[in-house]
Amino acid sequence: MVNPYETAKNQLADAAKELKIAEHLLSELSNPTVHQRDLVIDLDDGRKEKFVAYRSQHNNARGPFKGGVRFHPGVSEDEVRALSMWMTWKSAIVNIPFGGGKGGVVVDPKKLSKDELQRLAKAYGSAFVDVLGPRTDIPAPDVYTNSQTMAWMLDGYERAAGHQAPGAFTGKPIALGGSEGRDTATGLGGFFITEEIAKANNMKPSETTVAVQGMGNVGYTIADYLFKAGYKVVALSDSKGGIYNDGGINPELSRMCKIEKGMISDCYHIGSVQDDKESTQISNEDLLKLDVDILIPAALESVLSKKNADNIKAKVVVEMANGPTTPNADDILHERGIQVVPDVLANAGGVAVSYFEWVQNSYGYYWTRDLVNQRLEELMRNSFKKVYAVCIGQECSMRRSAYLYALKKVADAIELRGKEK
Ligand code: NAD
Repeated sequence: MVNPYETAKNQLADAAKELKIAEHLLSELSNPTVHQRDLVIDLDDGRKEKFVAYRSQHNNARGPFKGGVRFHPGVSEDEVRALSMWMTWKSAIVNIPFGGGKGGVVVDPKKLSKDELQRLAKAYGSAFVDVLGPRTDIPAPDVYTNSQTMAWMLDGYERAAGHQAPGAFTGKPIALGGSEGRDTATGLGGFFITEEIAKANNMKPSETTVAVQGMGNVGYTIADYLFKAGYKVVALSDSKGGIYNDGGINPELSRMCKIEKGMISDCYHIGSVQDDKESTQISNEDLLKLDVDILIPAALESVLSKKNADNIKAKVVVEMANGPTTPNADDILHERGIQVVPDVLANAGGVAVSYFEWVQNSYGYYWTRDLVNQRLEELMRNSFKKVYAVCIGQECSMRRSAYLYALKKVADAIELRGKEK
Protein backbone atom coordinates (compact mmCIF):
# COMPACT_ATOMS: atom_id res chain seq x y z
CA MET A 1 0.00 0.00 0.00
CA VAL A 2 1.33 3.42 -0.98
CA ASN A 3 1.56 5.81 1.98
CA PRO A 4 -0.55 8.86 0.94
CA TYR A 5 1.69 11.22 2.92
CA GLU A 6 4.73 10.04 0.93
CA THR A 7 2.77 10.58 -2.31
CA ALA A 8 1.72 14.08 -1.20
CA LYS A 9 5.30 14.99 -0.23
CA ASN A 10 6.66 13.67 -3.55
CA GLN A 11 4.11 15.69 -5.53
CA LEU A 12 5.08 18.79 -3.57
CA ALA A 13 8.83 18.20 -3.97
CA ASP A 14 8.36 17.73 -7.70
CA ALA A 15 6.47 21.01 -8.16
CA ALA A 16 8.83 22.83 -5.75
CA LYS A 17 11.82 21.79 -7.87
CA GLU A 18 10.28 23.21 -11.03
CA LEU A 19 9.30 26.46 -9.30
CA LYS A 20 12.69 26.67 -7.54
CA ILE A 21 10.96 27.02 -4.15
CA ALA A 22 13.40 27.77 -1.28
CA GLU A 23 14.41 24.81 0.90
CA HIS A 24 12.92 26.31 4.09
CA LEU A 25 9.53 26.71 2.35
CA LEU A 26 9.62 23.15 1.06
CA SER A 27 10.39 21.90 4.56
CA GLU A 28 7.58 23.98 6.09
CA LEU A 29 5.09 22.76 3.48
CA SER A 30 6.14 19.12 3.91
CA ASN A 31 5.31 18.99 7.62
CA PRO A 32 1.69 19.54 8.66
CA THR A 33 0.98 19.85 12.39
CA VAL A 34 -1.16 16.98 13.70
CA HIS A 35 -3.24 17.41 16.88
CA GLN A 36 -4.32 14.16 18.50
CA ARG A 37 -7.00 13.65 21.17
CA ASP A 38 -8.55 10.60 22.83
CA LEU A 39 -12.34 10.80 22.68
CA VAL A 40 -13.93 8.82 25.51
CA ILE A 41 -17.69 8.33 25.12
CA ASP A 42 -20.44 6.40 26.91
CA LEU A 43 -21.73 3.46 24.89
CA ASP A 44 -25.45 2.61 25.04
CA ASP A 45 -24.74 -0.41 27.29
CA GLY A 46 -23.11 1.81 29.94
CA ARG A 47 -19.47 0.94 29.09
CA LYS A 48 -17.00 3.64 28.09
CA GLU A 49 -14.92 3.44 24.91
CA LYS A 50 -11.92 5.42 23.73
CA PHE A 51 -11.48 6.55 20.10
CA VAL A 52 -8.34 8.18 18.68
CA ALA A 53 -9.06 11.43 16.82
CA TYR A 54 -6.85 13.69 14.70
CA ARG A 55 -6.85 17.16 13.22
CA SER A 56 -4.06 17.93 10.78
CA GLN A 57 -3.30 21.57 9.96
CA HIS A 58 -1.09 22.01 6.93
CA ASN A 59 -0.84 25.67 5.99
CA ASN A 60 -2.82 28.83 6.76
CA ALA A 61 -0.88 31.53 4.90
CA ARG A 62 -3.91 32.22 2.64
CA GLY A 63 -6.61 31.88 5.33
CA PRO A 64 -7.93 29.56 8.07
CA PHE A 65 -7.29 25.82 7.73
CA LYS A 66 -10.20 24.09 5.98
CA GLY A 67 -11.07 20.44 5.36
CA GLY A 68 -13.34 17.53 6.23
CA VAL A 69 -13.48 15.12 9.15
CA ARG A 70 -13.88 11.42 8.35
CA PHE A 71 -15.10 8.58 10.55
CA HIS A 72 -13.36 5.45 9.31
CA PRO A 73 -11.39 2.52 10.77
CA GLY A 74 -8.53 3.22 8.31
CA VAL A 75 -7.92 6.80 9.50
CA SER A 76 -4.25 7.36 10.36
CA GLU A 77 -1.94 10.24 11.15
CA ASP A 78 -0.29 10.00 7.74
CA GLU A 79 -3.63 9.88 5.95
CA VAL A 80 -4.87 13.12 7.56
CA ARG A 81 -1.47 14.73 6.92
CA ALA A 82 -1.73 13.98 3.19
CA LEU A 83 -5.38 14.99 2.94
CA SER A 84 -4.67 18.31 4.68
CA MET A 85 -1.88 19.05 2.17
CA TRP A 86 -4.24 18.36 -0.75
CA MET A 87 -6.79 20.73 0.79
CA THR A 88 -4.22 23.56 0.79
CA TRP A 89 -3.73 23.11 -2.96
CA LYS A 90 -7.46 22.75 -3.64
CA SER A 91 -8.30 26.02 -1.83
CA ALA A 92 -5.55 27.83 -3.74
CA ILE A 93 -6.72 26.40 -7.08
CA VAL A 94 -10.27 27.69 -6.69
CA ASN A 95 -8.98 30.90 -5.15
CA ILE A 96 -10.83 30.74 -1.85
CA PRO A 97 -9.16 32.31 1.21
CA PHE A 98 -8.45 29.11 3.11
CA GLY A 99 -5.53 26.85 3.85
CA GLY A 100 -5.58 23.09 4.28
CA GLY A 101 -6.75 20.97 7.18
CA LYS A 102 -8.24 17.50 7.64
CA GLY A 103 -9.47 15.44 10.55
CA GLY A 104 -10.54 11.95 11.35
CA VAL A 105 -11.62 9.50 14.01
CA VAL A 106 -10.46 5.88 13.98
CA VAL A 107 -13.87 4.22 14.22
CA ASP A 108 -16.18 1.93 12.29
CA PRO A 109 -19.31 4.13 12.32
CA LYS A 110 -21.47 1.21 11.20
CA LYS A 111 -20.84 -0.43 14.60
CA LEU A 112 -22.17 2.57 16.59
CA SER A 113 -25.80 3.50 17.26
CA LYS A 114 -27.10 6.94 16.27
CA ASP A 115 -26.85 8.12 19.89
CA GLU A 116 -23.26 6.87 20.15
CA LEU A 117 -22.36 8.65 16.89
CA GLN A 118 -23.90 11.83 18.28
CA ARG A 119 -21.78 11.57 21.45
CA LEU A 120 -18.65 10.92 19.37
CA ALA A 121 -19.29 13.93 17.08
CA LYS A 122 -19.95 16.24 20.05
CA ALA A 123 -16.79 14.95 21.75
CA TYR A 124 -14.81 15.80 18.59
CA GLY A 125 -16.21 19.35 18.51
CA SER A 126 -15.38 20.00 22.16
CA ALA A 127 -12.02 18.16 22.32
CA PHE A 128 -10.55 20.28 19.51
CA VAL A 129 -12.15 23.59 20.65
CA ASP A 130 -8.71 25.13 21.18
CA VAL A 131 -7.55 24.54 17.59
CA LEU A 132 -10.82 24.97 15.62
CA GLY A 133 -12.97 28.05 14.94
CA PRO A 134 -14.31 30.28 12.14
CA ARG A 135 -11.06 32.25 12.04
CA THR A 136 -8.78 29.30 12.78
CA ASP A 137 -9.80 25.96 11.26
CA ILE A 138 -13.15 24.99 9.74
CA PRO A 139 -14.09 21.31 9.35
CA ALA A 140 -16.73 19.92 6.93
CA PRO A 141 -18.22 16.46 6.16
CA ASP A 142 -16.07 13.75 4.59
CA VAL A 143 -16.21 9.95 4.41
CA TYR A 144 -19.04 8.64 6.66
CA THR A 145 -19.84 12.06 8.11
CA ASN A 146 -22.67 14.31 6.88
CA SER A 147 -24.68 17.45 7.67
CA GLN A 148 -26.11 15.84 10.83
CA THR A 149 -22.56 15.04 12.03
CA MET A 150 -21.63 18.70 11.46
CA ALA A 151 -24.68 19.85 13.46
CA TRP A 152 -23.56 17.66 16.41
CA MET A 153 -19.91 18.77 16.13
CA LEU A 154 -20.99 22.42 16.02
CA ASP A 155 -23.08 21.95 19.15
CA GLY A 156 -20.17 20.26 20.97
CA TYR A 157 -17.84 23.04 19.86
CA GLU A 158 -20.19 25.92 20.80
CA ARG A 159 -20.91 24.45 24.27
CA ALA A 160 -17.15 24.15 24.94
CA ALA A 161 -16.40 27.60 23.48
CA GLY A 162 -19.28 29.21 25.37
CA HIS A 163 -20.59 31.16 22.39
CA GLN A 164 -22.37 30.70 19.05
CA ALA A 165 -20.05 30.20 16.07
CA PRO A 166 -21.99 28.88 13.03
CA GLY A 167 -18.99 29.50 10.75
CA ALA A 168 -16.86 27.03 12.74
CA PHE A 169 -18.20 24.12 10.61
CA THR A 170 -19.55 23.98 7.05
CA GLY A 171 -21.78 21.43 5.34
CA LYS A 172 -24.37 22.02 8.09
CA PRO A 173 -28.13 21.54 7.70
CA ILE A 174 -29.82 24.67 6.32
CA ALA A 175 -31.71 25.13 9.63
CA LEU A 176 -28.37 25.65 11.40
CA GLY A 177 -26.83 28.02 8.85
CA GLY A 178 -25.98 25.63 6.01
CA SER A 179 -25.97 26.99 2.46
CA GLU A 180 -28.53 26.51 -0.26
CA GLY A 181 -26.92 24.62 -3.14
CA ARG A 182 -24.38 22.68 -1.03
CA ASP A 183 -26.14 19.39 -1.88
CA THR A 184 -25.47 19.73 -5.62
CA ALA A 185 -22.30 21.87 -5.44
CA THR A 186 -19.67 19.23 -6.24
CA GLY A 187 -21.57 17.78 -9.22
CA LEU A 188 -22.58 21.18 -10.58
CA GLY A 189 -19.04 22.51 -10.17
CA GLY A 190 -17.80 19.46 -12.08
CA PHE A 191 -20.34 20.13 -14.81
CA PHE A 192 -18.93 23.66 -15.37
CA ILE A 193 -15.42 22.20 -15.53
CA THR A 194 -16.53 19.50 -17.99
CA GLU A 195 -18.12 22.15 -20.21
CA GLU A 196 -14.85 24.10 -20.19
CA ILE A 197 -12.66 21.12 -21.10
CA ALA A 198 -15.15 20.11 -23.82
CA LYS A 199 -15.01 23.63 -25.27
CA ALA A 200 -11.19 23.59 -25.14
CA ASN A 201 -11.29 20.36 -27.20
CA ASN A 202 -13.94 21.66 -29.64
CA MET A 203 -16.41 19.01 -28.51
CA LYS A 204 -20.05 19.83 -29.30
CA PRO A 205 -22.46 18.61 -26.59
CA SER A 206 -24.76 16.70 -28.96
CA GLU A 207 -21.79 14.83 -30.46
CA THR A 208 -20.00 14.23 -27.16
CA THR A 209 -20.39 10.89 -25.40
CA VAL A 210 -19.93 10.59 -21.64
CA ALA A 211 -19.61 7.61 -19.25
CA VAL A 212 -20.07 8.17 -15.51
CA GLN A 213 -18.93 5.68 -12.86
CA GLY A 214 -20.92 6.11 -9.63
CA MET A 215 -24.54 7.18 -9.22
CA GLY A 216 -24.22 8.81 -5.80
CA ASN A 217 -24.55 12.48 -4.96
CA VAL A 218 -21.69 13.55 -7.23
CA GLY A 219 -22.09 11.10 -10.15
CA TYR A 220 -25.82 11.56 -10.47
CA THR A 221 -25.69 15.36 -10.25
CA ILE A 222 -23.02 15.78 -12.93
CA ALA A 223 -24.66 13.19 -15.23
CA ASP A 224 -28.02 14.95 -14.90
CA TYR A 225 -26.60 18.42 -15.67
CA LEU A 226 -24.67 17.05 -18.67
CA PHE A 227 -27.75 15.28 -20.03
CA LYS A 228 -29.85 18.45 -19.63
CA ALA A 229 -27.13 20.44 -21.47
CA GLY A 230 -27.43 18.04 -24.43
CA TYR A 231 -24.43 15.74 -23.86
CA LYS A 232 -24.92 12.08 -24.71
CA VAL A 233 -24.60 10.19 -21.42
CA VAL A 234 -24.10 6.63 -22.70
CA ALA A 235 -23.15 4.76 -19.52
CA LEU A 236 -23.86 4.95 -15.77
CA SER A 237 -23.02 2.62 -12.91
CA ASP A 238 -23.18 1.97 -9.18
CA SER A 239 -21.37 -0.53 -6.95
CA LYS A 240 -23.37 -3.46 -8.41
CA GLY A 241 -22.67 -2.69 -12.10
CA GLY A 242 -23.87 -0.39 -14.83
CA ILE A 243 -25.87 0.22 -18.00
CA TYR A 244 -24.78 1.22 -21.50
CA ASN A 245 -26.82 2.70 -24.34
CA ASP A 246 -25.12 4.28 -27.35
CA GLY A 247 -28.32 6.24 -28.00
CA GLY A 248 -28.09 7.99 -24.65
CA ILE A 249 -29.50 7.55 -21.14
CA ASN A 250 -31.65 9.95 -19.10
CA PRO A 251 -29.98 9.89 -15.64
CA GLU A 252 -33.12 11.08 -13.87
CA LEU A 253 -35.15 8.13 -15.17
CA SER A 254 -32.31 5.76 -14.27
CA ARG A 255 -32.14 7.15 -10.77
CA MET A 256 -35.87 6.70 -10.27
CA CYS A 257 -35.49 3.11 -11.46
CA LYS A 258 -32.51 2.57 -9.13
CA ILE A 259 -34.54 3.85 -6.17
CA GLU A 260 -37.29 1.40 -7.07
CA LYS A 261 -35.10 -1.63 -7.91
CA GLY A 262 -32.10 -1.01 -5.68
CA MET A 263 -29.42 -1.15 -8.37
CA ILE A 264 -28.75 0.57 -11.66
CA SER A 265 -27.86 -2.63 -13.57
CA ASP A 266 -31.46 -3.80 -13.15
CA CYS A 267 -32.60 -0.71 -15.06
CA TYR A 268 -31.11 -1.58 -18.44
CA HIS A 269 -34.46 -1.57 -20.16
CA ILE A 270 -35.43 1.96 -19.18
CA GLY A 271 -33.87 5.38 -19.27
CA SER A 272 -33.25 5.31 -23.00
CA VAL A 273 -33.89 8.56 -24.81
CA GLN A 274 -34.10 6.58 -28.05
CA ASP A 275 -37.20 4.42 -28.07
CA ASP A 276 -35.78 2.00 -30.65
CA LYS A 277 -32.68 1.14 -28.66
CA GLU A 278 -32.33 -0.57 -25.32
CA SER A 279 -29.56 -0.28 -22.78
CA THR A 280 -27.41 -3.27 -21.99
CA GLN A 281 -25.79 -4.27 -18.72
CA ILE A 282 -22.10 -3.50 -18.33
CA SER A 283 -19.53 -4.11 -15.61
CA ASN A 284 -17.77 -1.23 -13.85
CA GLU A 285 -14.44 -2.30 -15.34
CA ASP A 286 -15.87 -2.32 -18.90
CA LEU A 287 -17.48 1.09 -18.34
CA LEU A 288 -14.01 2.54 -17.72
CA LYS A 289 -12.75 1.10 -21.01
CA LEU A 290 -15.61 2.41 -23.19
CA ASP A 291 -14.77 4.32 -26.36
CA VAL A 292 -16.31 7.62 -25.18
CA ASP A 293 -15.21 11.23 -25.42
CA ILE A 294 -15.39 11.93 -21.69
CA LEU A 295 -14.97 9.46 -18.82
CA ILE A 296 -16.04 10.61 -15.34
CA PRO A 297 -14.96 8.42 -12.41
CA ALA A 298 -17.25 9.60 -9.59
CA ALA A 299 -17.12 6.76 -7.07
CA LEU A 300 -13.89 5.32 -5.74
CA GLU A 301 -10.18 6.00 -5.56
CA SER A 302 -7.54 4.19 -7.69
CA VAL A 303 -9.98 2.82 -10.33
CA LEU A 304 -7.62 3.93 -13.12
CA SER A 305 -4.43 2.03 -12.45
CA LYS A 306 -1.45 0.45 -14.19
CA LYS A 307 -3.72 -2.55 -14.87
CA ASN A 308 -6.22 -0.74 -17.13
CA ALA A 309 -4.56 2.57 -18.14
CA ASP A 310 -3.41 1.14 -21.48
CA ASN A 311 -7.02 0.21 -22.31
CA ILE A 312 -8.71 3.52 -21.52
CA LYS A 313 -10.17 4.88 -24.78
CA ALA A 314 -11.72 8.15 -23.56
CA LYS A 315 -10.18 11.37 -24.88
CA VAL A 316 -10.70 13.21 -21.59
CA VAL A 317 -11.00 12.02 -17.97
CA VAL A 318 -12.71 14.34 -15.47
CA GLU A 319 -11.84 13.19 -11.93
CA MET A 320 -14.91 13.75 -9.76
CA ALA A 321 -13.94 11.11 -7.16
CA ASN A 322 -10.96 11.86 -4.96
CA GLY A 323 -7.82 10.15 -6.25
CA PRO A 324 -9.37 7.89 -8.95
CA THR A 325 -6.08 7.76 -10.93
CA THR A 326 -2.95 6.17 -9.47
CA PRO A 327 0.38 7.97 -10.16
CA ASN A 328 1.45 5.15 -12.55
CA ALA A 329 -1.80 5.37 -14.51
CA ASP A 330 -1.49 9.15 -14.60
CA ASP A 331 1.88 8.86 -16.39
CA ILE A 332 0.49 6.30 -18.85
CA LEU A 333 -2.60 8.39 -19.66
CA HIS A 334 -0.45 11.50 -20.17
CA GLU A 335 1.92 9.62 -22.50
CA ARG A 336 -1.09 8.33 -24.44
CA GLY A 337 -2.39 11.89 -24.91
CA ILE A 338 -5.45 11.44 -22.70
CA GLN A 339 -6.23 14.68 -20.90
CA VAL A 340 -6.96 14.25 -17.18
CA VAL A 341 -8.73 17.09 -15.35
CA PRO A 342 -7.47 16.54 -11.77
CA ASP A 343 -9.71 16.07 -8.73
CA VAL A 344 -8.24 19.13 -6.99
CA LEU A 345 -9.92 21.23 -9.68
CA ALA A 346 -12.82 19.10 -10.96
CA ASN A 347 -14.44 18.30 -7.60
CA ALA A 348 -13.65 21.61 -5.84
CA GLY A 349 -17.27 22.82 -6.16
CA GLY A 350 -18.04 21.34 -2.73
CA VAL A 351 -15.37 23.31 -0.90
CA ALA A 352 -16.26 26.40 -2.95
CA VAL A 353 -19.84 26.32 -1.63
CA SER A 354 -18.49 25.54 1.86
CA TYR A 355 -16.65 28.85 1.49
CA PHE A 356 -19.93 30.55 0.48
CA GLU A 357 -21.55 29.02 3.58
CA TRP A 358 -18.79 30.43 5.79
CA VAL A 359 -19.20 33.88 4.17
CA GLN A 360 -22.97 33.77 4.78
CA ASN A 361 -22.41 32.70 8.41
CA SER A 362 -19.86 35.51 8.86
CA TYR A 363 -22.37 38.23 8.11
CA GLY A 364 -25.55 36.39 9.02
CA TYR A 365 -27.20 37.05 5.66
CA TYR A 366 -28.25 34.19 3.43
CA TRP A 367 -28.23 33.76 -0.35
CA THR A 368 -30.71 32.07 -2.68
CA ARG A 369 -29.83 28.83 -4.47
CA ASP A 370 -29.67 30.77 -7.76
CA LEU A 371 -27.14 33.22 -6.35
CA VAL A 372 -25.02 30.38 -4.91
CA ASN A 373 -25.04 28.55 -8.25
CA GLN A 374 -24.23 31.70 -10.21
CA ARG A 375 -21.23 32.45 -7.97
CA LEU A 376 -20.13 28.81 -8.15
CA GLU A 377 -20.21 28.95 -11.96
CA GLU A 378 -18.05 32.06 -12.06
CA LEU A 379 -15.55 30.63 -9.62
CA MET A 380 -15.24 27.21 -11.30
CA ARG A 381 -14.94 28.55 -14.88
CA ASN A 382 -12.32 31.12 -13.81
CA SER A 383 -10.33 28.48 -11.92
CA PHE A 384 -10.36 26.20 -14.96
CA LYS A 385 -9.06 28.98 -17.21
CA LYS A 386 -6.25 29.89 -14.79
CA VAL A 387 -5.06 26.29 -14.41
CA TYR A 388 -5.45 25.49 -18.13
CA ALA A 389 -3.37 28.55 -19.06
CA VAL A 390 -0.35 27.32 -17.06
CA CYS A 391 0.35 24.55 -19.52
CA ILE A 392 -0.75 25.96 -22.84
CA GLY A 393 2.08 25.44 -25.31
CA GLN A 394 3.94 23.15 -22.90
CA GLU A 395 4.10 19.42 -22.50
CA CYS A 396 2.64 19.32 -19.00
CA SER A 397 -0.50 17.65 -17.70
CA MET A 398 -3.37 19.56 -16.11
CA ARG A 399 -2.53 17.93 -12.78
CA ARG A 400 0.97 19.35 -12.99
CA SER A 401 -0.43 22.77 -14.00
CA ALA A 402 -2.77 22.68 -11.02
CA TYR A 403 0.05 21.87 -8.59
CA LEU A 404 2.37 24.51 -10.05
CA TYR A 405 -0.41 27.11 -9.94
CA ALA A 406 -1.39 26.26 -6.36
CA LEU A 407 2.12 26.00 -4.95
CA LYS A 408 3.12 29.34 -6.46
CA LYS A 409 0.14 31.04 -4.79
CA VAL A 410 0.80 29.46 -1.40
CA ALA A 411 4.55 30.10 -1.52
CA ASP A 412 3.95 33.75 -2.49
CA ALA A 413 1.54 34.17 0.45
CA ILE A 414 4.12 32.72 2.87
CA GLU A 415 6.92 34.93 1.50
CA LEU A 416 4.76 38.07 1.64
CA ARG A 417 4.19 37.52 5.36
CA GLY A 418 7.95 37.82 5.92
CA LYS A 419 9.96 36.25 8.70
CA GLU A 420 8.45 35.17 12.05
CA LYS A 421 10.96 37.17 14.12
P1 NAD B 1 -22.00 8.63 -2.52
O1 NAD B 1 -21.81 7.74 -1.37
O2 NAD B 1 -23.21 9.51 -2.60
O3 NAD B 1 -21.98 7.80 -3.88
C1 NAD B 1 -21.00 6.87 -4.20
C2 NAD B 1 -21.46 6.10 -5.43
O4 NAD B 1 -20.42 5.21 -5.82
C3 NAD B 1 -22.70 5.22 -5.19
O5 NAD B 1 -23.55 5.32 -6.31
C4 NAD B 1 -22.12 3.80 -5.13
O6 NAD B 1 -23.04 2.83 -5.56
C5 NAD B 1 -20.98 3.94 -6.10
N1 NAD B 1 -19.97 2.91 -5.94
C6 NAD B 1 -19.50 2.36 -4.79
N2 NAD B 1 -18.63 1.38 -5.08
C7 NAD B 1 -18.55 1.35 -6.43
C8 NAD B 1 -17.83 0.55 -7.34
N3 NAD B 1 -17.02 -0.42 -6.94
N4 NAD B 1 -17.97 0.78 -8.65
C9 NAD B 1 -18.82 1.75 -9.09
N5 NAD B 1 -19.52 2.52 -8.29
C10 NAD B 1 -19.40 2.32 -6.97
O7 NAD B 1 -20.66 9.50 -2.59
P2 NAD B 1 -20.42 10.91 -3.28
O8 NAD B 1 -20.61 11.99 -2.27
O9 NAD B 1 -21.15 10.94 -4.57
O10 NAD B 1 -18.84 10.84 -3.54
C11 NAD B 1 -18.30 10.17 -4.68
C12 NAD B 1 -16.83 10.53 -4.82
O11 NAD B 1 -16.70 11.95 -4.94
C13 NAD B 1 -15.92 10.15 -3.63
O12 NAD B 1 -14.65 9.82 -4.13
C14 NAD B 1 -15.83 11.43 -2.84
O13 NAD B 1 -14.65 11.47 -2.04
C15 NAD B 1 -15.77 12.44 -3.97
N6 NAD B 1 -16.15 13.79 -3.54
C16 NAD B 1 -17.38 14.05 -3.03
C17 NAD B 1 -17.71 15.34 -2.65
C18 NAD B 1 -19.09 15.68 -2.15
O14 NAD B 1 -19.36 16.88 -1.95
N7 NAD B 1 -19.98 14.73 -1.96
C19 NAD B 1 -16.76 16.38 -2.77
C20 NAD B 1 -15.49 16.09 -3.31
C21 NAD B 1 -15.21 14.78 -3.69
